Amino acid sequence: MDKQKLEILKNHVFEKYPHVEEGVCRVCGCTYYEPCIDEDCNTCSWVTTDETLCSFCFEGVYKEMFQEEVVYDK
Ligand SMILES: [Zn+2]
Ligand SMILES: [Zn+2]
Repeated sequence: MDKQKLEILKNHVFEKYPHVEEGVCRVCGCTYYEPCIDEDCNTCSWVTTDETLCSFCFEGVYKEMFQEEVVYDK
């Protein structure tokens, strides 16, 4: 993944959603025990090490900001 884009996105999200509680997604409020689930029954995971942004929200914001899909490093 493009590190620079990740930083830009993080700054954007952290500014827009300043409320932080460790272990709770700052955007959707999901937690380890109540994660987001998509139609394929995949659950979200943490994108940030402080566990305040989940992968589903991250991908949503990423698409919105950069008009492209997230490409994860293999
Ligand atoms: Zn979330
Ligand atoms: Zn989530």
